[in-house]
Amino acid sequence: MAKGKDVRVTVILECTNCVRNGLNKESRGVSRYITQKNRHNTPSRLELRKFCPYCYKHTIHGEIKK
Ligand SMILES: [Zn+2]
Repeated sequence: MAKGKDVRVTVILECTNCVRNGLNKESRGVSRYITQKNRHNTPSRLELRKFCPYCYKHTIHGEIKK
């Protein structure tokens, strides 16, 4: 049955535009999405275009390390 390691892992996506602008140090915060990825299909860092309520537009949301 299932192996020890989970193929599908939970990852947190963070707005790279917010992080680049250093807005996370302010009180506005950073847009984050919680999603899952398949480790076999996506061994590298996951990047998705999501709507950021802080940037008021769609931006690249990149996976962050816990
Ligand atoms: Zn943003």
